[in-house]
Amino acid sequence: MLAGDGIGPEIMDSAISVLKCLEEEFGLSTEKEFALIGGAAVDATGVPLPEETLSLAKSSDAILFGAVGGPKWDSLTRLLRPETGLLQLRSELDLFCNLRPATIFPVLATSSSLKRELVEDLDLMILRELTGGIYFGEPRGIKENEDGVRVGFNSMVYSETEIERLAITAHDIAMKRKKELCSVDKANVLDVSELWREVFEFVSKSYPEVKLTHMYVDNAAMQLVRYPKQFDVIATGNMFGDILSDLAAMMTGSIGMLPSASLNEDSKGLFEPVHGSAPDISGKNIANPLAMIMSLEMLLRYSLNLSGLADRVKKAVNNVLLQGFRTHDIKLENDVAVSTTEITSAVCKSLLEEA
Ligand code: NAD
Repeated sequence: MLAGDGIGPEIMDSAISVLKCLEEEFGLSTEKEFALIGGAAVDATGVPLPEETLSLAKSSDAILFGAVGGPKWDSLTRLLRPETGLLQLRSELDLFCNLRPATIFPVLATSSSLKRELVEDLDLMILRELTGGIYFGEPRGIKENEDGVRVGFNSMVYSETEIERLAITAHDIAMKRKKELCSVDKANVLDVSELWREVFEFVSKSYPEVKLTHMYVDNAAMQLVRYPKQFDVIATGNMFGDILSDLAAMMTGSIGMLPSASLNEDSKGLFEPVHGSAPDISGKNIANPLAMIMSLEMLLRYSLNLSGLADRVKKAVNNVLLQGFRTHDIKLENDVAVSTTEITSAVCKSLLEEA
């Protein structure tokens, strides 16, 4: 459990309360270890990812992560910045598959940037390849050509192995959901996408129950805004996924509601809210802890394979929203905002009522 900075420790406390409730009432048994990361680690040890934290993370089944960063550390060199600790952790654990759900709880559908009827009950999962593709491909750089004109270039590179492991995870996740998988690429223009499609088709042969379709990324962007409920699981490369997952995030209305996960080949994962450390509201007990609680829900589902308990957590979150509990970021004009601890207690109460 890596709380980090800003609102990180506050929302981590919320996740711990929910975990405690699952342990006391539903027989869950976990061994929890706490460690420093980000600015808190810089202050205590001089580096954003201390050796001790890394080795704890490596020996754990799953990592729950709050958020890192803040103005206090903004002037540090890149290597010492809190965010570097998170990037190092992702790379050390080879977390190649980023899961970004866009789930819209019905009572929050009016907060979406799209019309209510388009997004109500939306439950979409976007898988983004995280460690390869154009962000890391070589050659890359800026150099002068023969005419003395500077040219900038990057390479979109994917090996069969990289595509295959993402395709396998995507099919596995589709099997846990509606068994519908849409692979998004640009195979009409890019050679790398041709290979991408071929490998997805090959992997799909081992998953006869999963319906695999393909879509070009430009069309996927249009379809996501036109009728997002046509998708269940979308799998795509690093850059396309970066863009499409943020597009889908806007449909959900608030950044305080968005969980995420990054998995490696053994389904070991780092689970974290999409938002940052929100220094502007830190220490005020007003942060929305639901993205964090939903990150715990993903941890139960994807790393610990406890989908029954994950369903309970999701239902409890839905219940408190139905009951009208709103933190300041998701409240409408006439709602009274509740605190971080109040909405957390309501989630725990709802879990107990359903026991
Ligand atoms: P941010 O996500 O922290 O905040 C953006 C806005 O959303 C703020 O107004 C904030 O109050 C609000 N907000 C965010 N989470 C909320 C929540 N749970 N409940 C209610 N409101 C919430 O983004 P930022 O302000 O650009 O970044 C702040 C710091 O966080 C920076 O140091 C940045 O580098 C870092 N950051 C860290 C991560 C991470 O740890 N994964 C991700 C993004 C940004």
